[in-house]
Amino acid sequence: MRYVSTRGDQTQRQFCDILLEGLAPDGGLYLPVAYPQVDDATLSRWRALSYAELAFEVLSLYIDDIPADDLRALCAKTYTQEVFGTAAIVPLKPLAPGLMLEALSNGPTLAFKDMAMQLLGNLFEYELGRRGEELNIFGATSGDTGSAAEYAMRGKKGVRVFMTSPHGRMSPFQQAQMFSLQDSNIHNIAIEGVFDDCQDIVKAVSNDLVFKREHRIGTVNSINWARLLAQVVYYFAGYFQATQDNSQRVSFTVPSGNFGNVCAGHIARQMGLPIDRLVVATNENDVLDEFFKTGIYRVRGTLETWETSSPSMDISKASNFERFVFDLLDRDGAKVKALFSKELQTGQFDLSHDPRFELAANRYGFQSGRSTHQNRLDTIRAVFEQHGVMIDTHTADGVKVATEHLDAGVPMIVLETALPIKFASTIVEALGREPDRPAKFDGIEALPRKVKVMAADVEQVKAYIHAHTTG
Ligand SMILES: *Cc1c(COP(=O)(O)O)cnc(C)c1O
Repeated sequence: MRYVSTRGDQTQRQFCDILLEGLAPDGGLYLPVAYPQVDDATLSRWRALSYAELAFEVLSLYIDDIPADDLRALCAKTYTQEVFGTAAIVPLKPLAPGLMLEALSNGPTLAFKDMAMQLLGNLFEYELGRRGEELNIFGATSGDTGSAAEYAMRGKKGVRVFMTSPHGRMSPFQQAQMFSLQDSNIHNIAIEGVFDDCQDIVKAVSNDLVFKREHRIGTVNSINWARLLAQVVYYFAGYFQATQDNSQRVSFTVPSGNFGNVCAGHIARQMGLPIDRLVVATNENDVLDEFFKTGIYRVRGTLETWETSSPSMDISKASNFERFVFDLLDRDGAKVKALFSKELQTGQFDLSHDPRFELAANRYGFQSGRSTHQNRLDTIRAVFEQHGVMIDTHTADGVKVATEHLDAGVPMIVLETALPIKFASTIVEALGREPDRPAKFDGIEALPRKVKVMAADVEQVKAYIHAHTTG
């Protein structure tokens, strides 16, 4: 399999070339030259596999520069009951007839990002070891990415993590999770600004090719192709659990921010997995809902990015969205480049008159909806009272939007993206009680912290990285 950029650079790269990269040199994102097709016989064979074996099968369609035995061993080492809590790894939890959660948040940091990041940690250590190289991971997080990356990379040979986050904006539990890590290869940088300021700093550093090369900067934020690929696996696993045979279709509702999670669903669907609808659920930061309803992609500025009770979705520009637009526009890299590098400078682009936008729902199955804080409170309460299941604010967004898109005869799977303990104050507001806390996190808020607070200034951040990677 070879990979190309969404902005028209046709240089063909292999998986391990882009594994350690973020953006392509032309500023685009990497995608495979074509999506491998999975036929009926293959689906039937995959039904019987364990999660780790399924991961190996899906990954090996996209990776041909790691020997099969090594890749199989990496998958087996990653997706264990010990790390993810159950043998199924991503069990379904029924809510109502035809409506279920897929539990993606039983990994070390209790959010779905562990699903990809734990694999990435092992892939990075493997590939860096093979090359005899080092890597400094530089990323931006509004909470879950950062902790998932740090827990995946802590103690890994050849890897350091420099993680920016918006100062004071993550939940106390999330801050405690990240800042309590004392591993010498983990560096927390709290930026005085919002998540997009952090993301802009990461982009600015990634675009400084000299600095990037000299400091061996890599990324693990959601534009990383390997993360997306790892996420494709659980769409298959969810489908197999919800159906008896391949004639059945399912729909997914996905709480969305940077469009990484649902983009993996889009890829699974393009591979031939019988997915009916992919429902994009946003919070009040509804740039994606607006696009799927109107064809207008209007990014928001810092002042228009609301701080909500589902903070991992407080996104004003969806960094993975360009991948879908590339497919939507029949892989016209020149057009994608014009939209994202020129037109977007005006704050928006408009595809409402492009006949291909009309096809987004029919051809690609996309629908969308949004939730407010009150919707999420009501949903958390209703799900707890009716089904005895406690859900977090992001999953509540998904359940709220899913119930507006139910289709008789088509099971709806809502991706559970985090556990309630990560967002305790909203649970208390909704239910009048504290969420359950897994025992291993007892007293985490009281642990000593390692974090550096900084202005939203690219040069200061670069200086900090420089000081901690040389000598
Ligand atoms: C990251 C995250 C999301 C959003 O996922 P994207 O891939 O950015 O769309 C939703 N919920 C939780 C809990 C997350 O951590």
